[in-house]
Amino acid sequence: MPAEKNIVIVGGGFAGTTLARSLERQLPQGWRVVLVSEESYTTFNPMLAEVVGASVFPEHVVAPIRQMLRGGTRSQFVMGRVLSIDPERRCVRAGTLAGIQDIRYEHLVLAFGTRANLDLVPGLADHALPLKLVGDAMFIRNRMLQRIARIELETDPAVRRRLGHFIVIGGGFSGVEVAGALADFLRGATRYYPRVRTEELQVTVIEGADRLLVELPKSLGLAAARSMLARRIEVRLNARAAEVDAGGVRLATGENIAGATVICTIGTRPNPLLEALPVPRQRGRIETAPDMSVPGMSGLWALGDCALVRNGMTQQFAPPTAQFAVAQARSLARNIVAAIEGRATQAFRHESKGMMATTGHLKGVASVFGLRLHGLPAWLLWRAYYLLLIPTAGRKVRIWLEWTWSMFFAADITHLRFTRTNEADAETARPAVEALSKSQPQRQP
Ligand SMILES: Cc1cc2nc3c(=O)[nH]c(=O)nc-3n(C[C@H](O)[C@H](O)[C@H](O)COP(=O)(O)OP(=O)(O)OC[C@H]3O[C@@H](n4cnc5c(N)ncnc54)[C@H](O)[C@@H]3O)c2cc1C
Repeated sequence: MPAEKNIVIVGGGFAGTTLARSLERQLPQGWRVVLVSEESYTTFNPMLAEVVGASVFPEHVVAPIRQMLRGGTRSQFVMGRVLSIDPERRCVRAGTLAGIQDIRYEHLVLAFGTRANLDLVPGLADHALPLKLVGDAMFIRNRMLQRIARIELETDPAVRRRLGHFIVIGGGFSGVEVAGALADFLRGATRYYPRVRTEELQVTVIEGADRLLVELPKSLGLAAARSMLARRIEVRLNARAAEVDAGGVRLATGENIAGATVICTIGTRPNPLLEALPVPRQRGRIETAPDMSVPGMSGLWALGDCALVRNGMTQQFAPPTAQFAVAQARSLARNIVAAIEGRATQAFRHESKGMMATTGHLKGVASVFGLRLHGLPAWLLWRAYYLLLIPTAGRKVRIWLEWTWSMFFAADITHLRFTRTNEADAETARPAVEALSKSQPQRQP
């Protein structure tokens, strides 16, 4: 690395990329941003349910970090996983394509988000499909197509029913959105599977609270449930998953819900990098000072999902959402520049613009600027807002075109597998193996 002063950011999600872009514009001469992230792209998580429902292509909910940054002398992107941090030497150690590299810093920003927690319920790790990464969304979509194709070939009604039942654990934003997308996709797909009846496909949402979308006003949680019931999505409230196995979900009451596909949208755990760091923590997140600096650690800052930041506007901790990650990043950029220039930093303050969720095609719920909307207006608002947030103009146009396309044409039912030439022969043995296990409950790969 050249002898410039580095501001190293760990994590290229909403928080890390927005911060890097803001800093690029404001940093004084002699300073530069080094963004280190595991993937070469940032994932637009709020749209993962749309990938499951095939309203957009997976490539369009991710944006290459190199295209988001100006580069040049202002910033550098390093694709790699930060393995350890040495606050004494002011150095991070990253595993990169060129091996282990040490990167020195003057300021270090932790923006590495959280991981999915599959230990929350026994059996979750082995039998449920998480939705956190774009790969998860593609896998769920392929699994759905695989299930319908398999039902076509099954003769046993009980097996057909089990294969056709998709259970979503969690009635929060992601749970509601993915259940809506699944139900719409399944209904649309059956026209290409003439031996599968719509009644054989069922989506069920399991929620531990007494309503869906507890973060939103009660009336909107109820509106979301009504919208889902109208499309035959079963909503189980006050229902806690106690165990998941290959046959489905057992509730805390002892009731079994049979279903071959379980999707998990609950639970997060701290990033493993946090374990070795001597930083104050609460609820698995880094407890920061109001200006997002980490107390007792000079030059260390944290924001986004991995941090617990008090919002000066409400005196509450900021929720782990994209909206707050972006707002924190803009505020932190100003604070880092202030710290470099010897000025006072400011406490984070952000007035929430509201929250919204889609409950399926042309349906949604939203609470924005005190206004409560549901149905088509909420859905249109959701799309307009996220279209504005999506990075790069090219992506905005592509997604807008895809959304428009999907309003008039059937969803894509291609089950795209990544079989390479040298693997294709070995693959021919697979269907026979699967046929043998058809009456057995299948383990999730
Ligand atoms: C399915 C789903 C739907 C959601 N829907 C909404 C929604 O509708 N509205 C909303 O506001 N929010 C939503 N969220 C939450 C929102 O996505 C998060 O709040 C937001 O992504 C947090 O941003 P972040 O930058 O802090 O973390 P992330 O976006 O998680 O980014 C963290 C980054 O750090 C990288 N990283 C982690 N460890 C390392 C390491 N050791 N070295 C290098 N890089 C590392 C990761 O690869 C990742 O790129 C949703 C989340 C999910 C999963």
